[in-house]
Amino acid sequence: MKKLALHWQILIGMVLGVLAGFLAVEFNGTTFIEDWIKPFGTIFINLLKLIAVPLIIASLLNGIADLQDISKLSKMGGRTIVIYVVSTVVAITIGLLTVNLIQPGYTIAEDTREDLLENYATDASGSIEVALSQKDDGPLKPLVDLVPDNIFQAMTDNGSMLQVIFFVILFGIALILIDPKDAEPVKKFVKGLNEAVLKIIDIIMLGAPYGVFALLAALVVEAPSLDLFQALLWYALCVLFGLAIMIFIIYPVAAKLITGFSYRRFFNGISPAQLLAFSTSSSAATLPVTMERVTEHIGVDEEVSSFVLPIGATINMDGTSLYQAVAAIFIAQALNVDLTFSDQLMIVVTATLASIGSAAVPGAGMVMLVIVLGSVGIPEAGLALIFAVDRPLDMCRTVVNVTGDASVSMIVAKSLNKLGVPKVKNLDDYYHKE
Ligand code: ASP
Repeated sequence: MKKLALHWQILIGMVLGVLAGFLAVEFNGTTFIEDWIKPFGTIFINLLKLIAVPLIIASLLNGIADLQDISKLSKMGGRTIVIYVVSTVVAITIGLLTVNLIQPGYTIAEDTREDLLENYATDASGSIEVALSQKDDGPLKPLVDLVPDNIFQAMTDNGSMLQVIFFVILFGIALILIDPKDAEPVKKFVKGLNEAVLKIIDIIMLGAPYGVFALLAALVVEAPSLDLFQALLWYALCVLFGLAIMIFIIYPVAAKLITGFSYRRFFNGISPAQLLAFSTSSSAATLPVTMERVTEHIGVDEEVSSFVLPIGATINMDGTSLYQAVAAIFIAQALNVDLTFSDQLMIVVTATLASIGSAAVPGAGMVMLVIVLGSVGIPEAGLALIFAVDRPLDMCRTVVNVTGDASVSMIVAKSLNKLGVPKVKNLDDYYHKE
């Protein structure tokens, strides 16, 4: 019998997970979910994370070493960065338009606002502290952070992916520059390593439907009460509306216009990565799957995907920047802080930088939001207002972050003539070889 395609399996896992969570809340099974189901979700995320650094090393090195000449690398790098910045600014503009039109901050009742500020003040102060300590570091700190003083130490920390990328690019350039005879055995080794890492991802993905089931069941039992969701409904809808425009209009239309991909082909190609981004709230954990989908199913040459995607996962966060813009204005409205047009322009600049600085892990965008708030004089304590609904919004903005990376990789590949026929046209053939 033919098995169901992977994205359907994941979707079913998600729906059943949510159902199981609600049933557990209803019938006192919360501890059961926490003790016996949640650990499988944690194992699944760990599996994805454990392969992220080996994947970046093997595939980026494999891609760069094949380039044969440095000018190709700088051309690809330049395009990637420019398109990433443009897509982020587009996202923030959409966020600002939405929140200025809907004005969700004025709908929140006085007593709800006070309740929220009181309930979440301690949680918010943790995030504020983390962000402020980063803010004190001086303007060139991100540049200094890019260069590790010990590559092995960097490789042991998933938060240091940019440092690993920096080293791998350096190593790849060296491989291009040395005598091809000497480079050959290293390239062969890297190629084999890359194949093995990709195979590990296939194996991990077999567990995806079960992993997302566990993750979502645990999320539902740990979620705050529905009342708070209702109070923040307009704010949440604003963020979701902006994110939906990115996912369903901006990316697929840009892909169609620039690469000729149909709507269906676009979503068929990347939907498993989107579903995983939703379930894990982490672009870094989703990276292995994004790479695999874009390369094998969309047909982006590995040379491009192995370069564009790891960088995108760490610096290109369109969903996060859109959310930061909406959240900043929402908090300003709720706390009656007047913002001028130039304040809003300032938000465009700081949200771009804050999203670049956000780590690709759950909740990171909210921590960096403090910097956006501070830049235009909105009280940082306002963060407490939006804490209650942050997790579901995080899940959705991560989908946008991942979709954005995948779309940019398609566009860069097209511009370099590196968008070919995907190795795998049908998901079923790939995951369920008979
Ligand atoms: N969770 C997001 C990501 O990994 C970052 C954020 O918190 O916005 O892409």
